[in-house]
Amino acid sequence: MTDILVYVPNSGKHAAEVLTLARNLGDVAAIAFDDAAEGLAGEYGAAKVYRVEAPEAADYFVDPKATVLVDLARQAAPDFFLLPSTDEGKALAARVAVALDNGLLTDVSGLEADGTVQQDAFAGATVVKSKATKGFTLATVKSGATEPAPAASSPAVESVAATVSEADKRVRITQRVDEPAGDRPSLADARVVVSGGRGVGSADDFALIERVADSLGGAVGASRAATDSGYYPHKFQVGQTGTTVSPQLYVAAGISGAIQHRAGMQTSRVIVAVNKDADAPIFGMADFGVVGDLFQVLPQALEEIEKRK
Ligand SMILES: Cc1cc2nc3c(=O)[nH]c(=O)nc-3n(C[C@H](O)[C@H](O)[C@H](O)COP(=O)(O)OP(=O)(O)OC[C@H]3O[C@@H](n4cnc5c(N)ncnc54)[C@H](O)[C@@H]3O)c2cc1C
Repeated sequence: MTDILVYVPNSGKHAAEVLTLARNLGDVAAIAFDDAAEGLAGEYGAAKVYRVEAPEAADYFVDPKATVLVDLARQAAPDFFLLPSTDEGKALAARVAVALDNGLLTDVSGLEADGTVQQDAFAGATVVKSKATKGFTLATVKSGATEPAPAASSPAVESVAATVSEADKRVRITQRVDEPAGDRPSLADARVVVSGGRGVGSADDFALIERVADSLGGAVGASRAATDSGYYPHKFQVGQTGTTVSPQLYVAAGISGAIQHRAGMQTSRVIVAVNKDADAPIFGMADFGVVGDLFQVLPQALEEIEKRK
């Protein structure tokens, strides 16, 4: 049986996706640093959980965690070691690759049993298949690579006690600032995302995008043109240089559908586009398209949604 190590950072959708993908390849041993991550591993079919007790690790950058991951990878000698493609996941994977002199494949969107991975290049226009030539398949997996599918298991839990060495204390975290959580779901995890583009025309008019998102219980996204124009904060940008989303429903209003935008939303289950230009490229990928002025179309859509609630 194929042995797969998975680093589970939290109980979010991205981590659930990586566990689902891994479970389809073989026996999963999850590495969890807290209860939430341990719980998720059991919900998504892990056969084993390495439960790391290293409270001090949270006070430092990724180095203490990387040391634990390197030790576990040495000990488990897996066929695959998968991490979510987040800033933390990539920082950890890079350290594991260097420490073990192992190959590393980042931003993977698919995996095959023989270790071949799929990566999207040129903003998704080209699919590249690669395989590491050195060591096991160490890869970071992009958000949206698969739909998370729960499969409850009762994993065997192995407790791992880790102390933080002086060498791993080079970068200490001195302050954490919690962003006030709004009422909307987070962009990366939302089942519905309603995004506005340059066609929205102003920051004030983004209120209409927010109203549609709220009526559907979704998150608000924006194109880069919209964030660069100051219509909406940069952290809500969807695309190649923003967040990658993969919701059940993606609504693009006043967005032309540039390749860099598509790169961040093309795996959405159902795509609805509203654009006044019938030739806008977004219609080439939309499941449903409305050619029209978003200021006429969206209020009518809102009315219908409210009627059906
Ligand atoms: C390296 C690089 C990285 C990039 N990364 C990203 C990224 O991560 N995300 C991203 O989004 N972009 C990214 N871009 C920018 C990208 O190339 C496009 O410029 C951008 O996506 C365009 O945004 P837009 O569709 O909102 O604007 P536009 O292309 O200007 O399109 C606006 C659309 O709104 C329509 N419209 C106007 N008024 C209305 C109305 N009243 N009702 C209905 N429709 C209307 C127009 O017909 C048009 O189709 C990147 C570019 C580069 C070079």
